[in-house]
Amino acid sequence: MRCPMSGTLPFAVVPDPRAIDPCLVDDLERAGAQVSEAVPLAGLTTLRVGGPARVLAECPTTASLIEVVRLLDTAAIPVLLLAGGSNVLISDDGFDGVVVHIGSNTIRIDDSIVTADAGAEWDTVVAQSIDAGLGGLECLSGIPGSAGATPVQNVGAYGVEIASLLRSVELLDRATGEVRHTEPAELGLAYRTSVLKHSDRAVVLSAEFELQRGGSSAPLRYGELARVLGASDGESRPAAQVREAVLGLRRGKGMVLDRADNDTWSAGSFFTNPVVSGEQLPAVLAKIVARVGDVTIPQFPAPDGTKLSAGWLIERAGFEKGFPGIDAPARLSTKHTLALTNRGSARASDIVALARSVRDGVATAFGVLLEPEPVPVGLAL
Ligand SMILES: Cc1cc2nc3c(=O)[nH]c(=O)nc-3n(C[C@H](O)[C@H](O)[C@H](O)COP(=O)(O)OP(=O)(O)OC[C@H]3O[C@@H](n4cnc5c(N)ncnc54)[C@H](O)[C@@H]3O)c2cc1C
Repeated sequence: MRCPMSGTLPFAVVPDPRAIDPCLVDDLERAGAQVSEAVPLAGLTTLRVGGPARVLAECPTTASLIEVVRLLDTAAIPVLLLAGGSNVLISDDGFDGVVVHIGSNTIRIDDSIVTADAGAEWDTVVAQSIDAGLGGLECLSGIPGSAGATPVQNVGAYGVEIASLLRSVELLDRATGEVRHTEPAELGLAYRTSVLKHSDRAVVLSAEFELQRGGSSAPLRYGELARVLGASDGESRPAAQVREAVLGLRRGKGMVLDRADNDTWSAGSFFTNPVVSGEQLPAVLAKIVARVGDVTIPQFPAPDGTKLSAGWLIERAGFEKGFPGIDAPARLSTKHTLALTNRGSARASDIVALARSVRDGVATAFGVLLEPEPVPVGLAL
């Protein structure tokens, strides 16, 4: 069989719509991808749920990533970009298109600038920057996944967000097929979101961070972390010391991946902290007081209102760690109510059912709608 040239893939005219088109395989392989068929996606995600990808194209380099996505976009074939799989919830039906697995992983450090390929493991980027005597990323230690996904949801932890360190992002613009550099200001980075999240507009090819020489951390702004380090608000400590403290705190909450610990078979925090408008706030606070009494309610100023703590609301709505109990395949983490976890045999439908029950319980108790943080693929809450 003679395959047509790249860009004219006859995906839609294959007689069996479930079968892989040999011409598609040829084109993707010529572009540098390793291609397989009907690959279960559960093994590529930290929640370890999700049905098969019709086709998996593993792209080991930036050049192959660009070429593969261009080919698929030209042929209007559905694409799911996947890197560490730590911020997705994929349906049990899987993905009926091509999952592009991002494997480019070069990290370059030049003076105070760190540039990482999209597929570089994020925690390796953090560790290497600290080893090179640079401060800034230490509070973001232990976050699973890739460097390329960090701008997608403006990754943040312990008082630091990627937005404050990002210098530029190299993107493949999927509308034009062009590769270009963008300023962080163009990305709409906000609390756990950006214009790239829930969007097919671009592929992050690499990200560049501007850090501080001298080995000191950024000023510490997170009370729990500052206390562990015996620091006052705004003080710095050696970046390596802060990294160890962050990793220790995260391990205690099941927030560092550990294959042997089911509390870490999660997507991290499943819900974002809700932001309540000035208008809504009095009614929400009244409901909280009516239910749990006159307690100190964690609340923080946010650009569009007041940010409440999702974990605190979940617990006060009556969901304890480990909910709904020992026999359930999907449970709240036994260390952290904000993480929904797979105890070994959960399917995506179990995670969805648990998420709905927590979200609805909080809405009924306090009139606050929790929004999921991971990106749903082929399903909705
Ligand atoms: C135990 C645990 C702890 C966590 N703690 C934190 C935390 O403290 N703070 C935090 O912010 N997050 C946290 N997360 C969530 C997650 O680790 C981050 O969001 C991470 O950046 C996701 O990276 P990834 O490579 O796994 O992305 P994936 O899950 O592979 O993808 C996530 C989304 O980004 C898209 N995407 C991925 N790569 C690219 C790219 N190169 N270009 C365009 N789109 C892309 C995907 O299509 C998908 O929509 C945690 C997760 C776990 C499991």
